[in-house]
Amino acid sequence: MVDRTDRPARSGEFDLIARYFAPLAADWPGAFGLTDDAALLGVSDGVDRVLTTDALVEGVHFRPDDPPDRVARKALRASLSDLAAMGATPEVYSLALQIPAERDDGWIAALVQGLAADQSRFGVTLIGGDTVSARGPAMLTVTAIGRLAHSRPLRRNGAAAGDDVYVSGTIGDGGLGLRACRGEAAGLDAAQRQFAVDRYQLPEPRVALGPALVGTASACLDVSDGLIADLGHLVRASGLAAEVLLDDVPWSGAAAAAMDYPATERIAAGDDYELLFTAPPVQRDAVTAIARTAGTPVARVGRTMPGSGVRVLDSGGTPLALARTGWRHR
Ligand SMILES: [Mg+2]
Repeated sequence: MVDRTDRPARSGEFDLIARYFAPLAADWPGAFGLTDDAALLGVSDGVDRVLTTDALVEGVHFRPDDPPDRVARKALRASLSDLAAMGATPEVYSLALQIPAERDDGWIAALVQGLAADQSRFGVTLIGGDTVSARGPAMLTVTAIGRLAHSRPLRRNGAAAGDDVYVSGTIGDGGLGLRACRGEAAGLDAAQRQFAVDRYQLPEPRVALGPALVGTASACLDVSDGLIADLGHLVRASGLAAEVLLDDVPWSGAAAAAMDYPATERIAAGDDYELLFTAPPVQRDAVTAIARTAGTPVARVGRTMPGSGVRVLDSGGTPLALARTGWRHR
């Protein structure tokens, strides 16, 4: 006889879909209430679509004790951030969910609650996916599709020498939040600690700014590996070098208050999901106007030039040298 007493209460896959996920698909007729083998995109409007896939793995991209509603929202938001980086407006998504054997229906219900909240926040609808129960960590794989205004994507390779380098929001908060979740990040008061945790668990995809930059920005990506690493990706794709003025990089009050978290580490920390983009100097007023309309703060932090690699300059104009755990004075 099999002892089932330690099994979590878990619906079968069909019940799971009907009960939890089908309601998330109600707004997209082509999803057929998640009853069929695949969904119809039904796209006949002549507008190009952008597709991106992002996987979040428990223990790698989120912590096992992160609230499940926030884990689901972060998975969705990471994909929406990629769409924004391409200049696309989010429309629909699918979710592949690997559920650890020890998680019960309550965990799934919490995931779905988080997804429902962000669906209304960002105007996206679930149109398909898969659920598998497995030994091992939870994994959420989101594939998101967005509309591209004017059929012109923002790319990484469009920057020209002499372009300005901009970043949205503040840099280093994701890394600070991860430290705060671990009980590190000394020097923060309770409100700053909560702010940092929120920034790590619930990044803000710049869905208004990205599409608005099409036609003005010359290149764009979202910051997931760290400001300097991602700027390195952008200038490599564009065949250029870049210089960043450390004093011009925007920080939150919490990041500035943290002990043992110097600016040189904030620019190397990941998980910010801010937009990093370039534009020619002639577009400065246009960038300012776009940022204001999008309601997203944007700061000019450097410029591109012929060559390769990224240099970070301190307030005296002296380049910093890369150290193993970040950047230090040469
Ligand atoms: Mg990205």
